[in-house]
Amino acid sequence: APSLTSMVVPWAAARPDAVALRTPPGESRVEVTWSRLLREVGAARDRNRSAGLAPGERMVLIAPTTPEFLVEFLGADAAGLVVVAANPLSTVRELAYLLEDSGARQVVAHPAVSAAGEQAAAEAGVAFRTIPLLAPEPAEPAQDSPGRPSPDPAAIEIVGREPDDLSALLYTSGTTGRPKGAMLTLGNLTAAAETVKGLIDATDADNWATGLPLFHVFGLAAVALPALSAGRPVTLFPRWDPQQFVHALAADAITVISGVPTMWMSVLASAPEGTAPALRAVSSGGAAIAGEVVRRFEDRFAAPVVEGYGLTETTALGTFNPLDGERKVGSVGRPVGDLEVRVIDHDGQPVPAGEVGEVCIRGPVVMKGYWNRPEATAEVLSEDGWFRTGDLGRMDADGYLFIVDRLKDLILHGGYNVYPREVEEVLYEIPGVREAAVVGTPDEKYGQQVTAVLTRTADAAGAALSAETVERFTRENLAAYKIPRIIEFVDELPKGPSGKILKRELLAHVPAQAA
Ligand code: ATP
Repeated sequence: APSLTSMVVPWAAARPDAVALRTPPGESRVEVTWSRLLREVGAARDRNRSAGLAPGERMVLIAPTTPEFLVEFLGADAAGLVVVAANPLSTVRELAYLLEDSGARQVVAHPAVSAAGEQAAAEAGVAFRTIPLLAPEPAEPAQDSPGRPSPDPAAIEIVGREPDDLSALLYTSGTTGRPKGAMLTLGNLTAAAETVKGLIDATDADNWATGLPLFHVFGLAAVALPALSAGRPVTLFPRWDPQQFVHALAADAITVISGVPTMWMSVLASAPEGTAPALRAVSSGGAAIAGEVVRRFEDRFAAPVVEGYGLTETTALGTFNPLDGERKVGSVGRPVGDLEVRVIDHDGQPVPAGEVGEVCIRGPVVMKGYWNRPEATAEVLSEDGWFRTGDLGRMDADGYLFIVDRLKDLILHGGYNVYPREVEEVLYEIPGVREAAVVGTPDEKYGQQVTAVLTRTADAAGAALSAETVERFTRENLAAYKIPRIIEFVDELPKGPSGKILKRELLAHVPAQAA
């Protein structure tokens, strides 16, 4: 794997005028063909060189989910640089930390989100530039138009690297201490792209779409790079708008979509009209998806919702349910590609099938370690290559993994372990519940109290929903120690950049009081 850019080169030769990347359908839509993509990547590579950056050096990239993000990501790759992908919502202070920790020498930002990056770069004394915006281009430029540069894929000069060389530092939000940069190599990203193509049976008729952030591993490594590698167009959504998304599903004849459960829930709740005639696979990950959401989404769009599991540290991969084989409800599927997955006890010994323990992953997608953090790396990565995920799970006799919960989200209630996820599953069955999050709040008597924070649907069922209904329903369906004793209703649940519900943030807002 000399570079990621080399995945694009064959397509620029084979289908120069076909669309590679596009913004959502609409008047100012930007469609980037494969030949144009390669030209733009070459230009971005040259900008990096002019800035004096040498292979192996880091640059911070700040951009929404747009073609420009990928042009710059590959432009960095072609120059042999390591991309530190930052959340466009980052503050100056957060960016200052990224710059200092990564030792990046340049900040490259999309003009729509450049203010904090420009200031952080100035304060840190590193180079700054904004990304040139791509203008809309006619879908079929005239073959003989004089101004049209000839696509010459061979002309692009790419810095060749080894599979073990770093490609990206993706910072995990970090529950303890400060964020750590997961070192993803060229080998990690190419292995992930190849594996994803296999998992979804990528074909030459696919049209991909996603609204996931590209600075996060799921959007980057499990959607954008596999689509580029497959030579298929991907529609990118810079802002999550369920109606716009559903409209594009039909307009762009989208076949494959990927996202987190909160996205599918918002589609069901806020975009009740519209179909997706070409849709054949919905890949869901990042957080557990409730069975009820799967059923409703499948009923509506007549395409399988396939759940997978992975982490930043494992280049988004881990396990996936088979598209054609048996999909087990509630399971995140079986180990993918060349990956090994096992479940261990406190002493690090594998537990028998069906027993709960910590999930560990080994294989070509496991990160090289945390940037400049040998101790933190040693805590999670064993010498023989096993990565400890911090997730509790069990594997059944057929090799299907069930994520029970995160070790850190486990609620300890008077000597009992309560897995929030199990309680959330039940809450989602109550009519009128839009979103549910279960957390442990401090309790003098029990240590921690099971607390449910809910949002209501906009319909009559939501209006009628009361704490009494929730109490009655959970009492009927859950053992006494699992029943939420504190029930709170809020307008919105706090969510992270990839749409995950942020339980830590939630805890800070829940008043400790009995229902
Ligand atoms: P941070 O570690 O930075 O605080 P994070 O844990 O959300 O944030 P990610 O790498 O984005 O970081 O997410 C990985 C985690 O997401 C996994 O450890 C797991 O807890 C959870 N996860 C991913 N997919 C699933 C799934 N299908 N079901 C349940 N949990 C999932």
